[in-house]
Amino acid sequence: MSRFWNKKINSIEPYQAGEQPGPGQKVIKLNTNENPYPPSPKCAEILRSFDIDSLRLYPDTDSKAVCEAVAANEGVKPSNVFVGNGSDEVLALCWQTFWEKAINTDKKVLVPEISYSFYPVYSDFYDVSIRKVPLREGFAIDADDYCSCPNAGIAIANPNAPTSRVICQDDIRKILDANPDSVVLIDEAYAAFAEDYQSAAQLVPEYDNLVVVRTLSKAYGLAGLRLGYAIASEELIEGLKRARDSFNSYPADRLAQALAAAALRDRAYYEKTRNAVISTRKRLVAELTALGFTMPDSAANFIFAKPPAGMKAETLYKNLKEKGILIRYFNKPVINEYLRISIGTDAEMDEFIDAVKEELKDGQNS
Ligand SMILES: *Cc1c(COP(=O)(O)O)cnc(C)c1O
Repeated sequence: MSRFWNKKINSIEPYQAGEQPGPGQKVIKLNTNENPYPPSPKCAEILRSFDIDSLRLYPDTDSKAVCEAVAANEGVKPSNVFVGNGSDEVLALCWQTFWEKAINTDKKVLVPEISYSFYPVYSDFYDVSIRKVPLREGFAIDADDYCSCPNAGIAIANPNAPTSRVICQDDIRKILDANPDSVVLIDEAYAAFAEDYQSAAQLVPEYDNLVVVRTLSKAYGLAGLRLGYAIASEELIEGLKRARDSFNSYPADRLAQALAAAALRDRAYYEKTRNAVISTRKRLVAELTALGFTMPDSAANFIFAKPPAGMKAETLYKNLKEKGILIRYFNKPVINEYLRISIGTDAEMDEFIDAVKEELKDGQNS
């Protein structure tokens, strides 16, 4: 609290990111869903040949090269793409552009009760009223829950975080058909890791009320670069640009644009790293299941697992932290018996599993 802060800043509860270790601290970092693999080698080539003198000039406000690379990958037009400083910024601009405070009405923005914890923070910060829709058995999102409820908008992470579950394109279509007058936001931060996934971006030519948000942070190993984008109808994209140009007209710098475009174009490397993460995930699921953990099927680069009877999630989180292994624990109702574990390299997962086995043994001895 400070007398120099306004009421909003005094009352807000900001988002809490997973911890980042200090320089030189050796940890196995499985707590923020970063990619364990480095960005495409094409990024290193760009860095080596980058024209430093060009940094004198402001960057392209629309990040055209990035929009073109996204358009080629997703089968949309460059005019259907909006680029921001990480998808968190794109999401924040969506909140400011498409929704507002609903007073004395049911028309609130619907979000799953358990989802990306930034959504309620944006809602507080930008005065958007939300209604949290409870999940079904096994953390399932049921499309029907979003089809008969009056609302001012809908935001769903697909695959959802931290639950790792995915809903199919037909369900998204059903939600869009039932809500032609609301903007429906699908946050596809983890879509790259869902097998046989059909992106909601394919539906953009059909629905003028759909916005799909993606990021280079997870799938492209570029969390440190800060680049995300939205895919939507030109009408929605124009709204986002109006918000951007009332806030920060240059969200992506010249270097970020050049590196992002190179990473987006390198399809072979993208496929290789995503497949590596998926196969490590399958191995981790098998090994943890054999140890008595339970978890929903994961379509993401993390799993959401409940330790076997007799071992508390919070205790395991704390004990692993002492051993230099960071995972994520949320001390919140509904999910406080679960741990979110990011997929690392095979070697990191081996160390993680060995440490878990030690904990299980210690638990039995005590
Ligand atoms: C990580 C994450 C983001 C944020 O990604 P950035 O592009 O790094 O800001 C957005 N949505 C969800 C669901 C995420 O997990």
